[in-house]
Parts: sequence; C-alpha cells; structure tokens
Amino acid sequence: MPSEALDLNAAATERAPRHALFSDAASLLLRAAAPERREVLVGVAWLVVAALLEACGPLAGKYLIDNYLLPRNAQIPAIAALLIGALVAGMAASWLRYLQLSRLAGLAMRSVRRIRETVYGHVLRLPMSFFDQAIIGQLVSRVTNDTEAVKTLYVQVLFVMLDSVIVLCGALAAMLWLDWRLMLIVATLVPVVVLVIVAYQALSAPAVTRARELRAELNAQMAESISGMPVLQASNATPRFNQRFADLNEAHYQSRQSALRANAWLLRPVLDFMNVLLVALVMWVFGRRGESVALTALQVGVLYAFINYIGRVVEPLTQITMQFSQLQQAMVSAARVNTLLKEAEAPVAADQGQVTAGGISIERLDFAYLPGRPVLHDINLEIAPGSFYGIVGHTGSGKSTLLSLLLRFYPARPGSIRIDGTPVGAIGEDHFRARIGLVPQEPFLLAESARENIAMGRSLTDAQVEAAARAAHAHDFIMALEAGYETPLGEGGARLSVGQKQLLAIARALAGEPRILFLDEATSHIDSETEQVVQRALTALRGRVTIVAIAHRLSTVRAADRIVVLNHGRIAESGTHGELMAIDNGLYQRLYLLQQLEGEAEPG
Ligand code: ATP
Ligand code: MG
Repeated sequence: MPSEALDLNAAATERAPRHALFSDAASLLLRAAAPERREVLVGVAWLVVAALLEACGPLAGKYLIDNYLLPRNAQIPAIAALLIGALVAGMAASWLRYLQLSRLAGLAMRSVRRIRETVYGHVLRLPMSFFDQAIIGQLVSRVTNDTEAVKTLYVQVLFVMLDSVIVLCGALAAMLWLDWRLMLIVATLVPVVVLVIVAYQALSAPAVTRARELRAELNAQMAESISGMPVLQASNATPRFNQRFADLNEAHYQSRQSALRANAWLLRPVLDFMNVLLVALVMWVFGRRGESVALTALQVGVLYAFINYIGRVVEPLTQITMQFSQLQQAMVSAARVNTLLKEAEAPVAADQGQVTAGGISIERLDFAYLPGRPVLHDINLEIAPGSFYGIVGHTGSGKSTLLSLLLRFYPARPGSIRIDGTPVGAIGEDHFRARIGLVPQEPFLLAESARENIAMGRSLTDAQVEAAARAAHAHDFIMALEAGYETPLGEGGARLSVGQKQLLAIARALAGEPRILFLDEATSHIDSETEQVVQRALTALRGRVTIVAIAHRLSTVRAADRIVVLNHGRIAESGTHGELMAIDNGLYQRLYLLQQLEGEAEPG
C-alpha cells in the first residue's frame, strides 16, 4: 500500500469538530483516572491550599509597607512576625506544590499504563475485518506514541494548567480583597488572553493537525519499507522511497515550523506587552489618586502588592497559552486512542456447545466482505466427522474465505455454519480454538524459539512438541539449527525457508491435537517428496480428525473422501477424485489433466 493511503479513521478524527475532540479526550482521561479519583481530588485540594499560601506573600508585604515601615510606627516584633510568616507560608507552598505535582505525575503515569494496556488488549480482540483496513505503522503509533501524548496531556498540560489556574484565582482573590477596582483592571487580561488563544488556535490548528498526520505517515512508511525490504531492494525502489520519506519529513518539519512561528509571533509578545501595559495602568491609577489624597493614606503597600500580583496573573496565563499547542496535539492523540477504543470488538461466543466429533455442516452460506460484492454464494456442505475434504478452485474463487468463516474470523449468517450441531458463533472461544487447528496460507512465525513456535504458549511437554515436529517432518531441520528446538527463529521466522516455515506451521497445528484441522495451501512450498511424508502423517489422522485441505496441487487432495470444486464462490462440482474425473470436460478434469501435462513436462 502506498503511504498516501492515509488511515481514514485517523484523518476523520483529526478533522472532527473541536467539541468532539474535547469530549473524546475528556472521556478517555476520566476513564483512565477513575480508579484513583480520590487521589486526584486530594492532590487538587492540596494544590489549592498551596496557591492560597503563596498568595499570602505579597499581602504580608503590603501590611509591612503600609503599617510598619513608616518611622513612627516601626515595630520590630510585628515586622519580624510578618517576615517569618511570609517566609514560612512561601516555603510551605513550594513544598506542598512539589509533593502534589509529583503525586499527580505518578497518577498520570499509572493512568497511561492503564490506557496502554486497555488499547493493546482491545486491539487483540478486534474482529479480523478491522485489520483488512488497518495500516500497521499507524496502529503501532496509536498504541505507543498516542498513549504517550496522553501522558503529556496529564502531566505537563493538565497539571501545569490546573496549577496555573489555581495560582491565578488565588492572586485575583487577593487583589479583590485589597482593591476591587484595581483588580478589575488586571482582570481584563483574562479575556484578552482568551482572545489570543482563539486567534492562535485558528492560526496553528491546521499546522498542528497536518504535522500529526504527517508523522503517522512517516511511521507507516517506515513500517511498510521494513516489511517489504526484499521487494524494495530487488526492484531498486529504495531511492524512490528515500525521496518520498525525505519529502514527508520536510513537509512535517514545515508544518511544525509554522506552528512554532504562530507561537513565537503571537503568544509571547502579546503577553509581555500586556504585562507592561497593566503595570503602567495600575501605576497611572495610583498616580491619579495620589494627586487628591495625602501620601500616608495612599497605601503604597497596595501598589507593591498589585505589581507583584500582576506578575502572578501574567505568568500562569503565559504558561497556559504556551502549553496550548501541546494540549491541542495531546487532545488529538487522546481522541484517536478513544476512537480506536470505540471500535466494536469481536463478539464473545456464548459457550453453548462443544466441538466433540468434529462434524461440520454448512447450509445456504452467502458471504461478502464488502456490501454488494458477494464472494461466496449458496454454499451447502455436510462434512462427516473424521473425514478428509479437499477444496480446489482457481485463484480468488473463495477458498480461503470459506475457511475464514469456518474459523469465525468473519461472522457468517447465524446458523449457516454448525459444528457438531452447534452454530459456530455459540461455541466458547477457548474451547473452539483448542479444538480447531489451522495451517494458514501464509505461515506466520513468532520471533521466538522453534519450540515456542510449536507450543504457542500451550502447556506441552518436550516429547509432545517433538512428536508433532516429527509428524510434520520438521524435526530434522530443527535439529540441524545451531541450538535445535531452542534456536530463535528471527522475526517472522526470517531464518527459515518458506517450506520450512510451512512444516513448522503444520507441526504447530498437529501439536494441539485438534478435532478439526484446516489446511490452506499448507504444502504449496514443500517439495513433492517431503509432501508425501506430511501427507502420510495427515492420513494417519483420518477417522479421528476432520481435515479440510485447500490445495492447488491436486495430487495433495487426490485421496480425499470428497473434493469440492469452487468456481467464483459457488460449488461447481463435488465428489471423489474418480467421480470428478468422470465428468467429461468438467472443471476438475481439465485442471487435473493440465497439471499432469505440466508434471510430465518438468525435467527430472
Ligand atoms: P487463492 O487460491 O489465491 O488463495 P482464494 O480462493 O483463497 O484464492 P479468497 O482469498 O477466498 O480466494 O478470496 C476470494 C475473493 O474475496 C477474492 O476476489 C478477493 O479479492 C476477495 N477478498 C479476499 N479477502 C478479502 C478481504 N479481506 N476484503 C475484501 N475482499 C477480499
Ligand atoms: Mg487463499
């Protein structure tokens, strides 16, 4: 997939209206912090106390100046008491704030840990259809980067903002108490800042959103390049990919830059200017009063306290606006995580029946991945327990799709597929997966040891693992690896040949001793000689295990109890090899003769 194929979900979230972003982000945060609600409230309460204590400093200064500093009423004990009081309050405030912020930071970290676990667990339970559309790099970035950005939302943004708002309110309250008219002048700053933030938002939001989109694209391209490396190198596409990456990277840099420019040109200068303007205004008002009132009654201390408080109002507002772009980014991230969490999980099976004998019955099964584009039409099949069914048909005829439905990777019409009489959807998940084995068309191995790749976390003894490996003809090549069963196989089993991967996948399916075994082109990359060995192992299961095998190489299913020929999603023919060969000019007969011709033409 080209990297332009932006995840539609993500793009939709990024352009969602702001209130939706906000409610999405808020609901995620609330949910994550819910188990520690008390902790949050206590932390916030102590922050309020700290802010109030802090607001006492300038007040003490005001009393000192207005009441005790004039020579005629300089009272040393009172001055000392005020100074010590202010000092203690200031220290207590700092200490409290430090304690509470670290408490809230711990809480944030734990919340993020919870979110990340929830998101990963959720992704594991999503239905297979979700992954048809998903772009791996973006999904990975959702679980790692986006949850990390949510931490920023907590630690840096929310707490800095919360702290700032509390300090701001403390300062405004103290000013109100000292002189409400002057306080009103200072308070005009608040709406001005709100205006500045709105303007800043309008200027920077597109750039911030674009930057995030581009970053997701960078991730996606990286992931795609790594998994497709052999193809990129072989088709000499690396320079083109390099260039595309460089272009994306440049665009990302530019959008970050323009967001930064809005910050540098708008926020800081406006606030600095407002600071100076306010101090000038307050001094001017004082000057006007001074003309009419005697200096002693003027309360120079109030002026001192006000100038001090103006700093305390401007600073939190600056902090809030400075954090705003981060807040915006983090909200986009949180909303994306929340969107992912809102994806419906695969339904949990009701646990109403069991796989016992392994009989499968399919009745009037239709299926379409996309509405209006049917893939399977009116499939009817009765597969007796312990029998061996072969499914053949041209590429794209719907063979793997049929298996996916039997494995309930996609939901079939209720009741159209039954196993031992129970609708597939109603068999308990653990039981279902334990009883049904799959060797998929594309073998998938974990970056773990050969042993673990066969055992797959099931508690199997070494003897069981080895028996399965022997049956699948995998034992010999595993023993030839440097550490035998303990050899790590590299990501996706990169250290093995494709045929060897298939043999391991067969061993894995056999090791679970399933009742029903599905094989999708399980031996397509294995030489004919080895295939015969594997075939013998499968034949030995006959009567005990129901086997449904898809094969292009017809020799694989020649011995099947019944062979089903799919053609454009319909069952075209079905019968034993002999019966199908007897149909003159039938699909199966033609395919078989064609393959025989090819076989004869092959040298050796
Ligand atoms: P092959 O022999 O190549 O493995 P197949 O018979 O297994 O082919 P399927 O994989 O079942 O074919 O695909 C049947 C049809 O369904 C194809 O036309 C394919 O394009 C379509 N299809 C398969 N998977 C999906 C999917 N996840 N979303 C949409 N369409 C799909
Ligand atoms: Mg297939």
